[in-house]
Amino acid sequence: MKAPAAPENEAIRLRHLRALRVLDTLPEERFDRLTRLAKRMFGVPIALVSLVDANRQWFKSRQGLDATETPRDVSFCGHAILADKIFEIPDARADERFADNPLVTGNPGIRFYAGLPLSVGDDMRVGTLCLIDVKPRELSEEDQTLLQDLAHMVEEELLSLHTATMDSLTGLSNRRGFEILSRMVMESCQRLRQPVTLLMFDIDKFKEINDTHGHAEGDQALATFGDVLRRALRDTDVLARLGGDEFVALLSNAGNDETTVILDRLQQELTKENERGGRAYALHSSVGRATAAAGDATSVESLLKVADAAMYENKRSRRAQRPSRNDSDDWNWL
Ligand code: GH3
Ligand code: MG
Repeated sequence: MKAPAAPENEAIRLRHLRALRVLDTLPEERFDRLTRLAKRMFGVPIALVSLVDANRQWFKSRQGLDATETPRDVSFCGHAILADKIFEIPDARADERFADNPLVTGNPGIRFYAGLPLSVGDDMRVGTLCLIDVKPRELSEEDQTLLQDLAHMVEEELLSLHTATMDSLTGLSNRRGFEILSRMVMESCQRLRQPVTLLMFDIDKFKEINDTHGHAEGDQALATFGDVLRRALRDTDVLARLGGDEFVALLSNAGNDETTVILDRLQQELTKENERGGRAYALHSSVGRATAAAGDATSVESLLKVADAAMYENKRSRRAQRPSRNDSDDWNWL
């Protein structure tokens, strides 16, 4: 086994890493939603944000791995930070640097590894966004570009004191995060010739909640609606709060039938939430949907336009049926 060498700039690199003040902090959704998406998009059992400290690699975010850190001398990421491009090991058992590595011969039984160095400041590589599989495999050129884009988002989050691409009220992506992630998911679905559906939501009569129960309760209602969306949708769906009471979801590999199933589940979750009690009002939302069929080269922007118009039409027709918040709650999605 070959232990990773220390990079030439090790001392200053460690100073930059420590200055981020992220080592040994609690897990954060702004990183976890990216590793979750990476795990699902690439179909790997493990995805990590690993930070390479003096003697260990410590995981700021981990999917599919229980360990919070491992020694640096057996780490793959220690090798990955030595170059400024992707570090890929298609089969660790066939690679003399890793064949007898305890992470290969024992748990978690690594065969495939791909790590993108995470750089801050002037090319200070503090860690990696990495994918691990227990089977040999290789990333296509498109996969490498996708991983690179996700790694850039992780870098942005590492560098910002507050979240750069996540809405802190709901833990979903913000408009900027949505722009980046939706483009990635859209490209990936188009490449795989999968249909994609965009859903647009706007909470009904949200101003009344603010006016009657106060702004803090309004915030709580937004967070609750975000939780309902998260419960009903899937890890590979990109969920965002675009602003105010407007939410959006991009559903990968979802045509009309899959979308109807997801909307039914969402309806059930929202009903459950409204029946839970403890709130003086019920949450309802209008929804608009737009689907790009498999192989259709539509952009996210044009799906947004179609879904937005459909959402307003849905709101208009439902408002006609149910003019006030307190009127009948009988109500259906599009
Ligand atoms: P409609 O049924 O037509 O959707 O009407 P609405 O009352 O929901 O009104 P609309 O969607 O136009 O307005 C959203 C309101 O959300 C306006 C704004 O005061 C409020 N708002 C925007 N951002 C926030 C926020 O972060 N927190 C809270 N509490 N309120 C917000
Ligand atoms: Mg509204």
